[in-house]
Amino acid sequence: MIVTLGPDADPTLVRHALIDRGLWVRRFDGNHAVQFLVEPPSPPIAPGEILAIHGVVDVAVTRPATPLLDAHPPRVSVRGVDVGVGARPILIAGPCSIETEDRTHRLAAEVARSGAAFLRGGAFKPRTSPYDFRGHGECALRWMRSAADLNGLRVVTEVLQPAEVSLVAEYADVLQIGARNMHNAPLLRAAGAANLPVVLKRGMAATIDEWLFAAEGLLLHGASGVILCERGIRGFEPATRFTLDVAAVALIAEVHQLPVIVDPSHGAGRRDLIPALCRAGLAAGAAGIMIEVHDDPGAALSDGPQAVAPSTLRAIANEMGIRRHLSGDSNLRSRVA
Ligand code: PEP
Ligand code: MN
Repeated sequence: MIVTLGPDADPTLVRHALIDRGLWVRRFDGNHAVQFLVEPPSPPIAPGEILAIHGVVDVAVTRPATPLLDAHPPRVSVRGVDVGVGARPILIAGPCSIETEDRTHRLAAEVARSGAAFLRGGAFKPRTSPYDFRGHGECALRWMRSAADLNGLRVVTEVLQPAEVSLVAEYADVLQIGARNMHNAPLLRAAGAANLPVVLKRGMAATIDEWLFAAEGLLLHGASGVILCERGIRGFEPATRFTLDVAAVALIAEVHQLPVIVDPSHGAGRRDLIPALCRAGLAAGAAGIMIEVHDDPGAALSDGPQAVAPSTLRAIANEMGIRRHLSGDSNLRSRVA
């Protein structure tokens, strides 16, 4: 919005009046008038309310940058479980990578025992080194789906490329777009077209605006909802793997009123910090937590140092007040015959 002042207006008083209404403003002194640009993350406000401020003579409404995201509900429902502002916090847990059929079943049982409603795990892995384990692909999707169905869980798993979206969508309840792909427009387009909810990780060097534009892209191409996931951004501090940006979580939950979850596993990169970062994320307004868990982290094919033991997962779930989503579970039926 651009707010134009009349020749007799007192810009300082108008500025205070705008700030009093929660708006973020930047002043421009043109040749003929003083103007204020109302910038994000200002809350929505009716132009009439600004016109009523003494000294304001015009309010020009600019086209919203993210109209679909602005209209996105504060909660999305995933097969009977609500995720978002005002809903009970949700827990998504599982291994970094889906490793073997047996382990997937064992870990899914542990995840369900903790009360989490969602099983996570990578079948297609975006690894930093080209020599690292890249996932078992469709086999892993099958193991994950059957382990989830046996344990009344929903599946969240990452899709890496457009050509694999339809395959992953056959097995997943929620698609995950990873940090390394947040800027990948063709992937956002293909993932959106699957018409599923999407967990969108924040790119490790992405601004909040860039992250929100990526979410807008998913919605534009058909995603049934987005759940933003703060997983740490790259700072200068090597003691943790990334820097978990809890201010971003508060901004998205409180100001944008959008579903946002926190992934402390990738944020910290070390298991000893996970419980504290879960508390921090929830305190900042996160709608849930995504956590990596493993029953033999020393032998994990990826991200062992940040995987918590099943007993720690249960302790975190207890502290979060997670209980079985009984109504949701009764609605769960296998998606794959
Ligand atoms: C993951 O969740 O397995 C993952 C690879 O995370 P990120 O994209 O945040 O690095
Ligand atoms: Mn991982």
